[in-house]
Parts: sequence; C-alpha cells; structure tokens
Amino acid sequence: MVARQKQAVKDEQTRENQKRYLAEKAEHDRQWRTEYDAYLASPEWARRRAAVLEREGYLCEGCRKQRATQVHHTHYRSVRDELLFELHALCRDCHERITERNGQGVKFL
Ligand SMILES: [Zn+2]
Repeated sequence: MVARQKQAVKDEQTRENQKRYLAEKAEHDRQWRTEYDAYLASPEWARRRAAVLEREGYLCEGCRKQRATQVHHTHYRSVRDELLFELHALCRDCHERITERNGQGVKFL
C-alpha cells in the first residue's frame, strides 16, 4: 500500500473514532441529564433545596437583595450526595448570570 493510501485509511479511522466518541458522549450526556432531572424531582432534592433556602432566609447569596427562589450547584461531582455548603440560594437573575458564565444550561426549579 502506498503512503497516500495508508494515510487515507488512517484518516478514515480517525473520522470513525471521532464519530463514535461524539455519539457516545451525546448518549452519556442524555443519560446524565435524565438522571439529574429525576433527582431534581425527588423528595431528597426537595429537602436539600428547602434546607439551603431556609439557611439563607430566602435571601439571594449572589446579590443579597432579591428573594432566593432557586438553588445552585457549585459543581456536579456530588449530585445526590451534596453537602449543603456546595449549594447556594439564588434569585433567578443571579442564577441565570452564574449559569451563563459557567456555560451551563439553566434549569429553573
Ligand atoms: Zn440575586
């Protein structure tokens, strides 16, 4: 096989690997999102969420001006096992601001 043909085979393998990786990542992200949404609808999350809002007296930790109505995850490594200091009570405006800054989709609950 000449060098050009070998390179063409390699390029095709690379494209196939990239397609497989992207498909697997998309499936993983879909599964993660489904499980996360189920968690956000659970009594377990409702208890944590209420504890954070009550801890802050329903005052937004971002601006300290508006009523906190949402709870923000500082990260997603401990989802389902969050310590309360990993969660923040925020108003809608501050939650939008931080999620946009972090490049995350906004989930209003
Ligand atoms: Zn705020």
